[in-house]
Amino acid sequence: MTAQSEPLGFIGLGIMGRGMVGNLLGAGFPVSVWNRTAERMTTLAGAGAVPCANPAEVATRSRIVFTCVSDTPDVEAVILGDHGVIEGAAEGTLVVDMSTISPRATRDMAERLGARGVQMLDAPVSGGSEGAAKGTLSIMVGGDAGQLERAMPAFRAMGKTITHVGPIGSGQTVKLVNQIVVVLNMLAAAEGLLFAQAAGVDVRKALEAITGGAAGSWMLANRGPQVIARDWRPGFMVDLQQKDLRLALEAADEMGVPLLGTGTVFQLYRTLQRAGLGKEGNHALAKALEKLAGLEIGG
Ligand code: NAP
Repeated sequence: MTAQSEPLGFIGLGIMGRGMVGNLLGAGFPVSVWNRTAERMTTLAGAGAVPCANPAEVATRSRIVFTCVSDTPDVEAVILGDHGVIEGAAEGTLVVDMSTISPRATRDMAERLGARGVQMLDAPVSGGSEGAAKGTLSIMVGGDAGQLERAMPAFRAMGKTITHVGPIGSGQTVKLVNQIVVVLNMLAAAEGLLFAQAAGVDVRKALEAITGGAAGSWMLANRGPQVIARDWRPGFMVDLQQKDLRLALEAADEMGVPLLGTGTVFQLYRTLQRAGLGKEGNHALAKALEKLAGLEIGG
């Protein structure tokens, strides 16, 4: 049996999962699926996916099982819980977790699966719902190189940049590095724009002048204009961003490493959640600074 023809399973058809499964089906893979809210399986079933009763059934029908659910306890539930993947997976099955969760919990789960002859890769992604829908995700993979080769045809259907970053758990660690850099770039962008506003210069001109220079970043170029236009629609929600910062701070705590900037941004996002803004985009970080300064950027 070639790697390409190994039957696939996919658990978690949220914003990310449904786009990823759409691309697997589009590339011709057979895919069994399960989602906690069963109605979310209907559209994909119409596109050829096989809906299952629980994660164990997905594992029984598959040789490679992907998961993309919200947080660490959710991945643990679908893999290790009642009717979880571990109950249905035959020896030699490969489990690939594409959620963003704790690196340590990932290593623990890999050990539990390994004791049953089941392999695991961690393969968190960046690129958002758009990347999931278009199949252009960046995928950061931790685990055995041979297992990565096995999953590669499926990864290629879902992503554009696939990087093997080290042993199991490393994918999650690198994803948290990504999140630290993203939020600190957003803090820098928001603070700079706030300063421009306070000084009375044209914030659009200020943005135009600095975006291509040493201050440039993806967040400044893409979210800066949204802040100025006061468009808070999410590419990535505050609530999920906050979950990822919590994971980064927990991992840093385990290592005894201070993360001063990340800690500050975590608390600023907390003020937004308290104000009921958890479903807004992560660039709403600007609103937390505006509240402290008593002024608004752009408009
Ligand atoms: P989402 O739209 O909220 O979907 C979450 C999925 O997880 C749903 O299918 C949900 O099932 C399922 N789920 C949650 N808890 C569960 C549990 N205890 N048992 C079974 N299923 C459970 O989230 P998403 O945006 O697809 O994100 C999924 C993962 O990808 C997260 O770890 C997120 O951090 C990561 N990610 C997201 C983005 C993004 O831009 N959205 C980008 C990169 C990475 P129901 O349908 O029943 O609720």
